[in-house]
Amino acid sequence: MQFIDLKAQQNQKLKGGITLKEDIEKNINKVIEHGQYIQGPEVKQLENELAKYVGVKNCITVSSGTDALLASLMALDIKPGDEVITTPFSFFATAETILLVGAKPIFIDIRRDSYNLDYEKLEMAISSKTKTIIAVSLYGQTADMKNINKIADKYNIPVIEDGAQSFGAEHYNKRSGSLSTIGTTSFFPSKPLGGYGDGGACFTDDDSLADKIRKISLHGQNKRYSHELIGFNGRLDTIQAAILLSKLKVFDNEIESRNRIANRYVKRFEEYGFLNTPLISKENKSVYAQFTIELDYREKVKKYLAENSIPTSIHYPSLLSDQKALNHSKGNKSIFKKVFKKNIYKSFDLENAKLACEKVLSLPMHPYLKEDQQDLIINTVIKSLENT
Ligand SMILES: *Cc1c(COP(=O)(O)O)cnc(C)c1O
Repeated sequence: MQFIDLKAQQNQKLKGGITLKEDIEKNINKVIEHGQYIQGPEVKQLENELAKYVGVKNCITVSSGTDALLASLMALDIKPGDEVITTPFSFFATAETILLVGAKPIFIDIRRDSYNLDYEKLEMAISSKTKTIIAVSLYGQTADMKNINKIADKYNIPVIEDGAQSFGAEHYNKRSGSLSTIGTTSFFPSKPLGGYGDGGACFTDDDSLADKIRKISLHGQNKRYSHELIGFNGRLDTIQAAILLSKLKVFDNEIESRNRIANRYVKRFEEYGFLNTPLISKENKSVYAQFTIELDYREKVKKYLAENSIPTSIHYPSLLSDQKALNHSKGNKSIFKKVFKKNIYKSFDLENAKLACEKVLSLPMHPYLKEDQQDLIINTVIKSLENT
């Protein structure tokens, strides 16, 4: 059994009878024939389709979800001395990109039920140095963007939604990516909309920010060899765009399958009286990038599942603020030591995030998980619970 089965997707039949794999091959071959490997027509076509799908005026594709965050922070002019409020319970890129622009991550706690940034803890962390908030939409469910925006608006602070795990998710019937000043996502192969390599995108309704993000992702160029800004090489390959255009054709069906599978997990676990399954708020629709449960004896369960050939994963075993790269005292000798005289981050009480690090376990989850496979996973989890 695989944690995420990327191969099963290729056998899906599209309209016209061909498989997704054949459609992808056809699209890749078109690129090989026209030869515009960088900024070819598929890139623009993908950006148009994604902007429409998300419901924003502008989509700028970039080389990864990390670069999407970096370009967004640069476009918002986040610089040394600035503070960026975010969650400590995310993939490293969320904090890394804040540090790359020389700003200070300010970590506030997550909500116990959704694992996303707790808007009730936001206001106390805002200072005159706060220049943006990065809310992460973890496991496929958007953060409470409505309440986060309400507070951000009060202080006139822009908001970035790190939607690397939530492309396609909805919050009050609006899609992830359209819920804040800038939304970002990732097309890493195992994300809900994954390519066959690295990729990402930024979404925004603000035309001047979109223009800036685009320039930044093209070495700050306004035209060839004329560099108006400091940027970097942040482009999405044409071949990745071609692959993603194919994959978009099955994406809506996949979201439905992910929800069907997640609901079946919840229902079966509930029948056994195991209730520590993900809670999706009623204003949200999740794309279940992960199906993550909570356990008191996680290591035992994880080991038992592994012995039964069921792969699991921990998203995430430690807080971003505990990573060595952020802590000089733990022996890190990074360039940041020069940039920041003392603490390179600040954190508030992170009690819920700490608990989550100790308890969460992600089970196999992808749109093509079969019922018998799922039953085996559920039964094995239950059996291991009975033994603890
Ligand atoms: C995957 C991920 C990223 C980084 O995306 P890449 O495309 O791998 O650079 C950033 N934030 C979160 C929350 C992620 O899950």
